Amino acid sequence: MSYVIEMQIMSGLPNQPLTAIKYVVAHESGNSTNTGPNALENEIAYMNRNKDNAFVSHWVGGGGRIVQIAPVNRVQYGCGPKGNPYSYAQVELARTSDKEQFKKDYAAYIWLLRKMAIEAGVPTILDGTGNGIKSHRWIADNLGGTTHKDPFAYLMSMGVTEAQFQQDIKNGLEEELTVSQYNELKQEIEALKSLLATKASLQSDREVGASYKEAWDWAIQEGIIRGDGSKNMNPAGVLTREQMATMLKRYYDKFVDNK
Ligand SMILES: [Zn+2]
Repeated sequence: MSYVIEMQIMSGLPNQPLTAIKYVVAHESGNSTNTGPNALENEIAYMNRNKDNAFVSHWVGGGGRIVQIAPVNRVQYGCGPKGNPYSYAQVELARTSDKEQFKKDYAAYIWLLRKMAIEAGVPTILDGTGNGIKSHRWIADNLGGTTHKDPFAYLMSMGVTEAQFQQDIKNGLEEELTVSQYNELKQEIEALKSLLATKASLQSDREVGASYKEAWDWAIQEGIIRGDGSKNMNPAGVLTREQMATMLKRYYDKFVDNK
């Protein structure tokens, strides 16, 4: 699955170049009083009013929506003076009290964090050593200049452990098929299609089942069932309508039209 990134770039941003590209930063709003259906819009409006002090490049929320409000690859004011000059993108997650909505928001959040990391050329690894995707907590613990510890507590409150978050960042939630997986699948489908097309002539060497044996032997002896042309009686073969008509005709000729 792919997402649309809605563009609502704010005006009057500082537009400062980064010192270097090292990180993509994962946040959540930390706002336990803004969890309703308009949480995403509220957060964006709030950030627009307070962009002189705090802003990030993206917001995720509203059931899997992604809104970009500032350019990437420019300094954003999201994780303090030690992290900001190195952060290509900073992604905020709006809260919701609805667990079903959270699942959609989380999927979009993972997708966007990974996409930003790939675009920035840093590893899709959460809080590892070196460059990569960093939690706001990692910035606080390792670089300083900020005290926030998001986004883990909110994710945990929605049932996503730290280990799960790490794994999802690494693997993604919905990887696309590789070309070889696609080709393999295509071959399987072709094989299945030809099997279905020829199912009436499937060959089976198996013996006639015991409970059918008497009728089977009778039908052969009376000439109602004959071989399939390759000296195979094919007892488990599928009966086509034309074969059925032939058998009925043989039966009629032999037992009914018995002049
Ligand atoms: Zn944060």
